[in-house]
Amino acid sequence: MAQTSSTSTPGYRGQARQPRIVCDNLVKIYKIADLEVVALQGLDLAVDPGEMIAIVGASGSGKSTLLNILGGLDVPSAGRIEVAGYDLLNMTESDRVQYRSEVIGFIWQQTARNLLPYLSARENVELPMTLAGAPGFASQAYAEELLQLVGLGERMDHKPTQLSGGEQQRVAIAVSLANGPSVILADEPTGELDTATSGEIFDIFQNIQTSLDVTIVIVTHDVEVSDKVQRTVSIRDGRVSSETLRFEDLDGEGDGMLKAEEFAVLDKAGRLQIPSEFIEELQLERRVRLKLDPDRVNVFPDDSDRKRDRE
Ligand code: ADP
Ligand code: MG
Repeated sequence: MAQTSSTSTPGYRGQARQPRIVCDNLVKIYKIADLEVVALQGLDLAVDPGEMIAIVGASGSGKSTLLNILGGLDVPSAGRIEVAGYDLLNMTESDRVQYRSEVIGFIWQQTARNLLPYLSARENVELPMTLAGAPGFASQAYAEELLQLVGLGERMDHKPTQLSGGEQQRVAIAVSLANGPSVILADEPTGELDTATSGEIFDIFQNIQTSLDVTIVIVTHDVEVSDKVQRTVSIRDGRVSSETLRFEDLDGEGDGMLKAEEFAVLDKAGRLQIPSEFIEELQLERRVRLKLDPDRVNVFPDDSDRKRDRE
């Protein structure tokens, strides 16, 4: 029987970099009376510890469904989903409650939904810690630290109504970090903000990502915002259709510049989504011809009708 090399550090294999989020063939079906809506249909996604990604996609493509499932607010119908070692498909209700309060920080689009209106910024940030049983003095000090981290050190005793929309979202980020989560989920957090303020919010997310070991998943419509992450995942019809990676490259003068490249995503069953522009351009329909070359796979329109006509 094959033996693994004895030179590897004991336990190293167990500590090898595991993705913090793994979705495998994830399915979510909503049933309303006799009607079934397939919101996620075989979605695959892996996100590393400390990675920040953006999720984009047309309205109704399944972005919020995915975020709610990741956040333990909704239960998937089938597939596999593991977050920070928790199996979200087979979880007791009490595990789910613990998961939501200890592993996940959630930020909603509606600023008002993130904060309690009658509490100050500081009290809003302290609340999750108090609920989790942290002693008051520890909560106070950490709440102040978090509010400083999001740039609100000077406004800690303001109530939400005394803060701008952008400031309220900053407090919401501090609240989401209060219990030291492994994963921050934000559903269109800048949807109600102007472009400049959105940019500031994303700078804060970047700052958190580098200073705390937290994985950040942000659903956004904002194109400028998705320029600020290394990876943007596009969802179409409940599935990941493409990923855009950003990387630093050198321009002609040898200066660093940010480049982006879009990749199609191949799932485990070998399925690939061809962009709709390509489909329209070549009038691809139902059947296509595939041809393998040494270094590529070619996709051709189905011309069997024309061939038969000629024969
Ligand atoms: P997105 O956030 O990308 O706009 P959603 O995840 O909200 O998309 O919705 C995906 C699909 O699932 C849509 O067709 C939507 O109508 C449906 N859907 C979402 N939530 C529910 C629900 N609670 N009950 C029934 N259908 C739902
Ligand atoms: Mg949505």
